[in-house]
Amino acid sequence: MLKNSLTFLGTGGGRVVVFRQIRHSGGMWLNLDGVNILIDPGPGSLIRIFERGFDTKDIDIIVVSHRHLDHCADLNSVIESASESTRNPKDLLVAPEDVVEGEDPILLKYLKKAIKEYIPVEENKEIHYKDIKILSRMKHIHEGAQTYGLEFLSKNKKIVYVPCGKFYEDMLKGYSKGADIMIFNTTFPRKVEGYYHLSVDDVERMIEKYRPKLAVLSHFSISMLRADPEKVAAKISRKTGINVISAYDGMRLQF
Ligand SMILES: [Zn+2]
Ligand SMILES: [Zn+2]
Repeated sequence: MLKNSLTFLGTGGGRVVVFRQIRHSGGMWLNLDGVNILIDPGPGSLIRIFERGFDTKDIDIIVVSHRHLDHCADLNSVIESASESTRNPKDLLVAPEDVVEGEDPILLKYLKKAIKEYIPVEENKEIHYKDIKILSRMKHIHEGAQTYGLEFLSKNKKIVYVPCGKFYEDMLKGYSKGADIMIFNTTFPRKVEGYYHLSVDDVERMIEKYRPKLAVLSHFSISMLRADPEKVAAKISRKTGINVISAYDGMRLQF
């Protein structure tokens, strides 16, 4: 029986799509070996969690890829809910330092006690929790926000998440190959100078290089929606021979 699942609470990316809710946002709910991991609780995450039949109380780990609001605007609401207003602290928060500490943190100070452990993400760090491992990978270049690639591993499954960032050649060697699912924040259909996001060309090169069993495109801007993510995914699939799909709001994969 397939017991692992990955649900896309939202698939929007970029300012217009997320902040006008043309697609939902709110991140991903990953259940890996019985561990519930909420990744990138952007705007609406709290609502989408319940709407999709989950419960914040079941969250074991919250992971934030970076401090931009499309990835963490609901962090406080979700922690408030999940910890029953700090009475029942959650096990683990994994996020770059600028999400939790410093001048302008995203996490409200009083909610620090709603988390048993906070582990800051740095390049190539290994975090263990029960039978799973979270690996932080390479640093992304992303508009002043500390951002790292992330891999989630159980004994025999590997999910790789490539968050937002500007493409550079090292991105063709910073991740591991052959993931069961590799998620790409594919914001733009074409490279846009001055924007620190991945384009379809960048993602195609990475898919070719890393050859996951399944590649999933998500985090779509308005120009990406106009280009039709389904068609884009089919085209990359034809060119690379890899199974590539585009995510839709509420999409649930079992593996
Ligand atoms: Zn961002
Ligand atoms: Zn983003």
